[in-house]
Amino acid sequence: MDRREFAKLSAFALAWTGLPSYAQIPALSHNPVGYAAIGLGSISDIFMRACAQSQTAKVTALVTGHPDTKGAKYAAMYGIPKTSIYTYETFDRILDNKDVDAVYVGLPNSMHCEYTVRAAQAAKHVLCEKPMAVSSRECRQMIDACRQARVKLMIGYRVHYDPTWLQAIQILASGEIGQLQSFQGGFFAQLPAGAWRLTRKLGGGGALMDLGIYPLNAIRHIAAEEPTDFTAVLATRDRGGRFSEVEQSMEWTMKFPSGIVASCGCSYGQRGPSFLTLNGEKGYLVMEPAFNYDGVHLRGEAGGRPIDQPGAGKLPFQFTLEAEHFASCIRNNTQPESPGEEGLKDMLAIEAIYKAAGAPIA
Ligand code: NAD
Repeated sequence: MDRREFAKLSAFALAWTGLPSYAQIPALSHNPVGYAAIGLGSISDIFMRACAQSQTAKVTALVTGHPDTKGAKYAAMYGIPKTSIYTYETFDRILDNKDVDAVYVGLPNSMHCEYTVRAAQAAKHVLCEKPMAVSSRECRQMIDACRQARVKLMIGYRVHYDPTWLQAIQILASGEIGQLQSFQGGFFAQLPAGAWRLTRKLGGGGALMDLGIYPLNAIRHIAAEEPTDFTAVLATRDRGGRFSEVEQSMEWTMKFPSGIVASCGCSYGQRGPSFLTLNGEKGYLVMEPAFNYDGVHLRGEAGGRPIDQPGAGKLPFQFTLEAEHFASCIRNNTQPESPGEEGLKDMLAIEAIYKAAGAPIA
């Protein structure tokens, strides 16, 4: 690792490790940042549980198509007044709700852009789930809307806030595995027929957009440079009808200007590990599982010693750290660690991967 590269990595690791642990954040319980959760599905459920464990982040409003059932249920659970339950039609009235500082967008991918723009127009900061949107054009629209409204935009790359990931970054920055040479990564799952993720209209793409984005983002972020050369193969082996609109699997490679190479895979139609390997000239690190909600396990060899570090923390701790990081950015007027620009860079790489596979998205 040359000095320039080391300095870059050290600064990066410092930025990551400089994030306060949620256990260490000074209590601001008198003035927690208020979030409105939009779309009360599985990820918003986790996000709301995460905020309930926080001193600095709190869910203060809900946006749902089912105000009298789902809305009422979560309002009762988290002490949210009935007047702070909105529908998708009344959402814009959130402008007048002083208890809401930010919105958390937990909607299907193709709805992220519209609700981020509307939140910005209502003068609220935005924490938007990954993938940021379904095209780089939409990502730019979201960044512009937030810039114009002078609100912050962060993308929910939760593993950026996991201490085990921060430890891997620290080891890398210490030089103990030497100059980085390559990565391998993957994330695999089985999706049931009928899921919105299998529709182009709501998912925007298939496994790459939803699962492949995890190794893609981790690699881009750790390499701290942008990939320029791509090869990709898209494959759909299951002919049962689940994958009539989006791909089942994607395998791809990326090359970075420094010469670092990465080889990745993801699928909606197979079981497999969630993993990332970082191979250096003197050692290596393996995260497996890498992208799970908890239990991230770090192994490898660095500085001539074996590494075996089981992850600390239990679901929903990554989301608590994420919600608190954004809360701290809002209170202290600082830049989020995973801003909209980070989501845009992933989307540009996703578009390049689809193009390399011969299936460009709109
Ligand atoms: P989900 O299906 O469980 O929830 C989606 C919510 O959106 C539901 O409340 C649903 O009622 C609402 N909705 C509104 N309009 C809809 C429409 N036209 N069609 C379908 N649902 C509609 O989905 P989820 O798993 O919570 O995913 C939501 C977002 O969160 C996605 O962008 C996904 O990529 C992201 N996500 C992130 C993580 C993470 O670890 N960061 C994990 C899972 C999902």
